[in-house]
Amino acid sequence: MIIETENLVKAYQNKVAVNSINLSVEKGQIYGFLGPNGAGKSTTIKMLTGLVFPSSGKGQVLDRPLGDVQARAKLGYLPEHFRYQEWMTGEDLLNFHTSLYRLKRDPERNRNVLRRVGLLEQGNYKVGGYSKGMQQRIGLACALLPGPDLLFLDEPTSALDPIGRKDVRDIILDLQKEGTTIFLNSHLLSEVEAVCDHIAIINKGVIVKSGSMKDLLMGKVTLSIRCSPI
Ligand code: ATP
Repeated sequence: MIIETENLVKAYQNKVAVNSINLSVEKGQIYGFLGPNGAGKSTTIKMLTGLVFPSSGKGQVLDRPLGDVQARAKLGYLPEHFRYQEWMTGEDLLNFHTSLYRLKRDPERNRNVLRRVGLLEQGNYKVGGYSKGMQQRIGLACALLPGPDLLFLDEPTSALDPIGRKDVRDIILDLQKEGTTIFLNSHLLSEVEAVCDHIAIINKGVIVKSGSMKDLLMGKVTLSIRCSPI
C-alpha cells in the first residue's frame, strides 16, 4: 500500500474535521476522495502530506510514518488554492517552489515539467497573464518538481472550463501511465468518474462509502450524499 491509515482524526479546537478514517491506496491507483464542501478532504491531504498533525490515529505514506521527511521528499502537492504573484513568470514560480521542495535549481528539470504540462513555450510569460487552465497547469508543474511517486491534487479542475478540465485530466492519466500514484480530492462526481480507479466518499468528516469505480458505475456503491454531478 502507498497510503494506509488507521482511525485518523483531526479536530480543530472543538470541531472534528476528520473522524476516524481508514484509507488504503494501492501503488499506481488514481484514488478519488469525493465529498461536498467542508467534508474534510483538504484536512485529510494535509495530514497525509505531513502539513498538519493528526489529533489521533496513525498512518503510513510510502511505507513511512505520516510526516516522515524521507517520504515527504517523494510527494508532490497541488493545493486547492494555488498561490502566485501576478508579476512572477512560470520559471520564477518553478524556482520558488524548487526552494520550497528544498531542491537545487535545475533548468533542465524546469523545462521537463513545463513540457509535461504543455507550457514549454510560455515559461517566461507572467503567470498573471495565464488563463485559469494555464495557471492550474503551472501549479501542477510545481507539484511535479520533486519527481513524485505520490501526487496529491486538491480539487485540480473545479475552477476550470471544460477544455481546461480535459487538459488537466489528460495530464493526470499520463502521469498514472508513467507510474505515479495519485490521490485526488474533488466535489465533482464527473471528475472522479473520468479519471479514478477507486473512490472513497467523505461527508462531515466520515467515510460513508468506498469502492472501485467499476463497482460504483455498476451501482454496487450508492452515492448517499449530495455531490455536484458536473
Ligand atoms: P472545501 O473543498 O470546501 O475546502 P473540504 O472537504 O476540503 O472542503 P476541509 O477544508 O478539510 O474540507 O474542512 C473540513 C472542516 O474543518 C470544515 O468545517 C472547515 O471549516 C474546518 N477547518 C478546516 N481547516 C480549519 C482550521 N485551520 N481551523 C478550524 N477549522 C478548520
